[in-house]
Amino acid sequence: MAKKMPKTDVVIVGVGWGGGIIASELTKKGLNVVGLEKGQERNTEDYYMVHDELRYAIRGELFQDLSQDTLTFRSNDGMRALPMRQYGSFLLGSGLGGAGVHWNGQTYRFLPYDFEIRSQTIDRYGKDKIPEDMRIQDWGITYDELEPYYDQFEKMAGISGEENPLGGKRSDKYPTPPMLHSPQMKMFKKATEKLNYHPYTVPSANLSEPYENPDGISRAACEYCAFCERFGCEYGAKADPVVTVIPVAKETGNFDLRTHSWVRRVLHKDGKATGVLYTDVTTGEEVEQPADVVVLTSYVFNNVKLLLNSDIGRPYDPSTEKGVIGKNYAYQIIKGSATGYFEDKKFNNFAGAGALGMVIDDFNGDNFDHSDVDFIHGGYLSLTQTGNRPIQTNPIPAGTPTWGKEFKENSLRYINQTLSIGAMGASMPYKQHYLDLDPMYKDTFGDPLIRMTYDFREQDQELAKFTATKAKEIMEEMGADHIDAMEELGPYDIRTYQSTHNTGGVIMGADSDTSAVNNYLQMWDMENVFVVGASAFPHNSGYNPTGTVGALAYRAAEGILKYNKDAGMLA
Ligand SMILES: Cc1cc2nc3c(=O)[nH]c(=O)nc-3n(C[C@H](O)[C@H](O)[C@H](O)COP(=O)(O)OP(=O)(O)OC[C@H]3O[C@@H](n4cnc5c(N)ncnc54)[C@H](O)[C@@H]3O)c2cc1C
Ligand code: SF4
Repeated sequence: MAKKMPKTDVVIVGVGWGGGIIASELTKKGLNVVGLEKGQERNTEDYYMVHDELRYAIRGELFQDLSQDTLTFRSNDGMRALPMRQYGSFLLGSGLGGAGVHWNGQTYRFLPYDFEIRSQTIDRYGKDKIPEDMRIQDWGITYDELEPYYDQFEKMAGISGEENPLGGKRSDKYPTPPMLHSPQMKMFKKATEKLNYHPYTVPSANLSEPYENPDGISRAACEYCAFCERFGCEYGAKADPVVTVIPVAKETGNFDLRTHSWVRRVLHKDGKATGVLYTDVTTGEEVEQPADVVVLTSYVFNNVKLLLNSDIGRPYDPSTEKGVIGKNYAYQIIKGSATGYFEDKKFNNFAGAGALGMVIDDFNGDNFDHSDVDFIHGGYLSLTQTGNRPIQTNPIPAGTPTWGKEFKENSLRYINQTLSIGAMGASMPYKQHYLDLDPMYKDTFGDPLIRMTYDFREQDQELAKFTATKAKEIMEEMGADHIDAMEELGPYDIRTYQSTHNTGGVIMGADSDTSAVNNYLQMWDMENVFVVGASAFPHNSGYNPTGTVGALAYRAAEGILKYNKDAGMLA
């Protein structure tokens, strides 16, 4: 028999960016909120003087423990899925702040095209441009409607940046100026300007200068220490939930944060959620937390897993295309890139920051004419300087053996003599790509794991080849002596790191037949459940996702406050 806690206004499952923003916005308005986080408490002090690549980047101290919970993967539904037992393609967050603690901080807005992708693609190119099994749909919200929430997220996090010349309209400039420009960033800028493109500085959550946000939270400027991606920031300079929104929620006295609390079910009766059931992982005790509103902010895979294991919503069936939970899983196509080797130039590649770089959007969204290419959308092209580290960074020209004397010589030689231009290709949804419950494999508590069915498609192959060609062209202009550019994308490989940009599964839209949540991220099938995160994206854009996750979290918080006053489906 589970221990029963007193009822609260709102219970939040998972306290990363999504959960932290919701907690801060609701508690400021006087609601009582319980935050349940399955991982441990985290603080800036945890990272003082521990630039330890082995501990954080390789052994992944901040990531979810895959021996407790993981997912299974297969390329298509004719195959048997197997569990992901080691980290590769993406790195799942765990603990207070979630993946927001060890992210890079590259903080983009999606393009207006993204939110109306289906209508705008058909308007410009006709229906035949969309492949028969591709399932793009409009998001049920426009860029202009979401813009104020982007602005709110950027001001809270103190994003450092300059206007994207090809982006949507902004109501205000970034709260802090762009990051410093290193010599290689200047080379990228010069080369792309020469090619008549439109470079701008990567919008960064690594602060360019000290900043106090509208909640009164002050943070120090970035030290360009280069131990950023996969690490926590010892200066508090990188915006993460632990140094921004969570202290604001705690300060109100209305936030009851419980770490080591693994939620296993959303409880419901007569079509409404009544609370959640969780296990205290330190004692093994089962606890029921009753609540008026349940908010899932536990990342794409866990949001879907919790809904399916709790029998909430209509599970997606790829054969009939009926149901919505698990549908439109998408990822990111980042391999269409190029690396340049410079024989007589050296760069300080060991210095950097998670979100230091220059970028162009000339081949992103519908910013160029797609009439003569076999794909829709596109991606940004960027040169980032996130900091080369001794174990993981071994740039070697193609054809070098991957071990032995020649490998060592080349890797030492080129560590400071290579530059890369990367692409962040958009990923479209297909009727065959989805998330469901694995029929065989279970987590540490015996609950079915999430199963992912996904592969790269023709669209992805074409898009990656296109971005690789453009990356090579820019690298040539930058004067590299030798360039290795991607030639074939090949099939999706879950073993090699690409990005933690998984999307879909609980998607938003204007129509309850084809989406799981409305544009406040309120579930069509259970009005007092809100599902927040990149799980709401109907496709993934040619950008990193978290700016849009943050904007949607602010929008959802506003929805929950409205719902708290006046229950029912929000319009
Ligand atoms: C190395 C790395 C670099 C990245 N860099 C960038 C970048 O530069 N730009 C960008 O836009 N994005 C980046 N991302 C992605 C970014 O980190 C995520 O988009 C973002 O953190 C997602 O926030 P979230 O709150 O939705 O989920 P998460 O941060 O994953 O938080 C979910 C939380 O829920 C908890 N949880 C899960 N299940 C349960 C349960 N059953 N019960 C209780 N708690 C639960 C988890 O422990 C976790 O703390 C990066 C990610 C990684 C890993
Ligand atoms: S690079 Fe800057 S933001 Fe990133 S961890 Fe170092 S000091 Fe912090």
